[in-house]
Amino acid sequence: MIDMHCHLDLYPNPKDIVQQCVKENMYVLSVTTTPKAWQGTKSLAEGCKRIRTSLGLHPQLAHERYQEIDLFDELVLKAKYVGEIGLDGGKDYTQYQNIQISVLEHILNSTQKAGGRIMSIHCRSAVDSFLDCLTNYQDAGIPILHWFTGTQTQLQRAISLGCWFSVSPAMLATKKGKSLVEKMPKERVLTETDGPFARLNQKILMPWDVKKVIPHLSEVWKINPEETNITLISNLQNILKSIV
Ligand code: MN
Repeated sequence: MIDMHCHLDLYPNPKDIVQQCVKENMYVLSVTTTPKAWQGTKSLAEGCKRIRTSLGLHPQLAHERYQEIDLFDELVLKAKYVGEIGLDGGKDYTQYQNIQISVLEHILNSTQKAGGRIMSIHCRSAVDSFLDCLTNYQDAGIPILHWFTGTQTQLQRAISLGCWFSVSPAMLATKKGKSLVEKMPKERVLTETDGPFARLNQKILMPWDVKKVIPHLSEVWKINPEETNITLISNLQNILKSIV
């Protein structure tokens, strides 16, 4: 099982969650929302080889935390993964659009200078602006668009720019989400929960709930669940290989 976008540090009992992930043999990308949180979140998974912690600055926090960008520049040299970063064009954040873009450009530039990273991206209601930024930083690494909710046209543009996608049980529970997943190249799909933010049937998703995606993916890809798991693991191996 792979949870490529999970906020381990934001569960009320992160240490228990880490233990359970280890027990379940899960691969987890533990994303952070501010550079200051990276070290502490990383220490939660000390010694757990399959849990990696990414360095982030969430677009919804960009206007409050842009001062931490210097810390981002310092830590990106040590961090193997970047995220959660991106843009949020939701109506509560349109007033912060300029600062979000300048923070994102700064991050993409530093990440590119550091040699490129796998990046977990938030681009809710801002897919085109995100892709516009990305085109200026082609060597920033591989973006994984998390919980993609754009249009089919935006999806095609993202694919042509080399983006990957992490899909969640919550996303596959909607008709729109499902029709987007149908058009994603199978070899560029990974799974995620976005817990503890995301819920399914009112229940907060736990990292191991990511297995709920398997029957849906298996239906979309017209292969059995076992082959679906094999495909996902091989996708993970491929993305890891592509960034040294
Ligand atoms: Mn998230």
